[in-house]
Amino acid sequence: MPPTQATDLLSLTPDELDLALKEHFEARGQPAYRSAQVRRWIYEGLAPSIEQMTDLPVGEREALHDRFAMVEAEAAQVALSEDGTVKHLWRLADGELIESVLIPSRKRMTLCISSQAGCAIGCTFCATGWGGFDRQLTAGEIVCQYRASRRWVEKNERGPITNIVYMGMGEPLANRKSVFPSLTILNQGYGVGARRITVSTVGMVPGILELAERPEQFRLALSLHAPETELRGSLIPLEKRHPLPELLEALKKFDDGGGKRITFEYTMIGGINDDLALAPKLAKIANQVRAFVNLIPFNPIPYQDWLPSPPEQIRAFAAVLEAAGVSAAVRETRGRDIDAACGQLRGHTLVQLEKGRGSATT
Ligand code: SF4
Repeated sequence: MPPTQATDLLSLTPDELDLALKEHFEARGQPAYRSAQVRRWIYEGLAPSIEQMTDLPVGEREALHDRFAMVEAEAAQVALSEDGTVKHLWRLADGELIESVLIPSRKRMTLCISSQAGCAIGCTFCATGWGGFDRQLTAGEIVCQYRASRRWVEKNERGPITNIVYMGMGEPLANRKSVFPSLTILNQGYGVGARRITVSTVGMVPGILELAERPEQFRLALSLHAPETELRGSLIPLEKRHPLPELLEALKKFDDGGGKRITFEYTMIGGINDDLALAPKLAKIANQVRAFVNLIPFNPIPYQDWLPSPPEQIRAFAAVLEAAGVSAAVRETRGRDIDAACGQLRGHTLVQLEKGRGSATT
């Protein structure tokens, strides 16, 4: 008789997977190599289901099915940008919608993944924040975005995924229970180098400290967006819980880990946080933790009438940073034609679904 709740194979770390499979096959009197077969199908073959592990006898696949599940996402929508950016809207088993984005650049293919369905933080510049929080993702639901995206790039001959950033929907360090195992799974299971995986946060201090303790050199991106507490608090409500001085102390501990790189993400919003007087303050903070600064033109969202800073303002801001000894880069906004800003595609789809049900108020 099947158990009431099947264990999701994709949510297990490689060590947990080995142990669970060993126990399962031993109890069935099966040879030890059965575990290795399943492991290969998951990490190398990217098999989307137990049924497709075709070198296992049918009876063994059925027995696996009775105890385990593989929670995969189904593509609800794929949007291709003129600049090569590809956005997937994934439907999870319970109908929840999440997004991931593939961003090609000259030498890289970066996959941006979601860690929560929606987000509870409510940053004023973010479409996901305006949409509210639905639920945490499991480790398997985080990892399956990578698996499905890899299948997509392989099928469409877009080259390998070289980097992963946790910068999609949600605050990753507010879902450490799933995000931390997912880091282990991607690194040890799928072989993605720790230095090629970046965890982004708006400043969840306990999570930064926990990440600092990990032996692997995962990278950290801090969404800073303002170098002053008051202005930052008006953009990121979490600033009130973990104000800049506390955040800076946590970043120093992360930096003390040696070889762990910190990047500051600074979205340039016209007339809001792009005053040149802010640049030396930002430089001072960046220099204390040797952070690299990415200046990103604001990607307009439907809920705000803010505009991106003019290019000359961004260049002038970058020049002040560089003169103060900070390495900085001006990033392009990618995939603007496909709602690639985090949460936008999901937001629009939810509105359309609501309209389809006739319950929309607009
Ligand atoms: S920026 Fe990140 S933390 Fe802030 S609301 Fe958006 S998803 Fe949440």
